[in-house]
Amino acid sequence: MGEFDLIERYFKRPTTRAALGVGDDCALLQLAAGSQLAISSDMLVEGRHFFADVDPRTLGHKALAVNLSDLAACGAEPQAFTLALALPEIDEVWLTGFSQGLFALADPYGCELVGGDTTRGPLNICITVLGSVPAPAGRSQALLRSGAHPGDDIYVSGHIGDARLALEALRGKISLPPALLQAAKRRLEEPSPRIKLGLALRGLASAAIDLSDGLVGDLQHLLKASRVGASLNTAAALGRLAARWHVDWASASVDRATALSCVLSGGDDYELLFTAPASARDALAAAAAGSDTPITRIGQIDAAPGLRLLNEAGSELADSFRSFDHFA
Ligand code: ADP
Ligand code: MG
Repeated sequence: MGEFDLIERYFKRPTTRAALGVGDDCALLQLAAGSQLAISSDMLVEGRHFFADVDPRTLGHKALAVNLSDLAACGAEPQAFTLALALPEIDEVWLTGFSQGLFALADPYGCELVGGDTTRGPLNICITVLGSVPAPAGRSQALLRSGAHPGDDIYVSGHIGDARLALEALRGKISLPPALLQAAKRRLEEPSPRIKLGLALRGLASAAIDLSDGLVGDLQHLLKASRVGASLNTAAALGRLAARWHVDWASASVDRATALSCVLSGGDDYELLFTAPASARDALAAAAAGSDTPITRIGQIDAAPGLRLLNEAGSELADSFRSFDHFA
């Protein structure tokens, strides 16, 4: 099978949203009046972002999920994506699984594959997603990292830390009960981009970022962009976000320091971290319920620069964050 048959068989599909999809020199998208295009790319490299033996279906899912997560963080609605693929060989079983995983995630969002490139080489997957954000009269409704104000609440969606927990277990550093390992591994391999929540946060959140590198690191990006500081309630982050791990601390299969490291510095969660004024609390609760995504308030934006990690009593952790960063 040649390059063009491969594209035809696995990646060319009729488009409904795009004006022109795969097959010509460019794809064409029709933009609605008064909207902006949100664009983001992520590359996944074997050995660095996934194991060589990972199920191609979950790889297809994850390659698109990490990109959709960036659209979610901007409050953008997915429209289309392109796929640049380097393949060491043409493996039809792999291509079938990969394309199924990809489209199973893309289709519910009506996010169409409109183009890309295919070449021989070490396995490498680069996706660019295109989304739309309303910008009536040129005023963008996109969520940015730079909008947080002193006094704003800090929230995170869903659970965090699971992906890192799975990674540590897969590397043999910790051992997990089978049920927990399965659940955590699913979060690592098949993250759910928080698109619905991102859309619901437009007009409510003052700033947002998606969690790809870990809570503390990504929060610091937001703080820097907004020129503010923050106090983080680590007990809330740990206790509520990883509530289902409690069982395991009790049985000592995961000690508290490891759990805290997973929550604070484990990456690959693809949850949303966002800020909003206290006046938005009720509206946020409704937005979370309406998008079937739990959210947890984990801290507050401060005028004073820097990030303070607090315990349940509200005093600063004696140890610096470094001591919880097992993975540095
Ligand atoms: P060109 O040489 O003009 O860049 P190509 O021969 O690389 O075009 O690709 C032919 C068509 O197939 C183009 O429309 C391109 O966008 C599309 N395409 C190539 N690879 C992929 C892929 N992996 N997924 C989706 N579309 C692809
Ligand atoms: Mg080409």
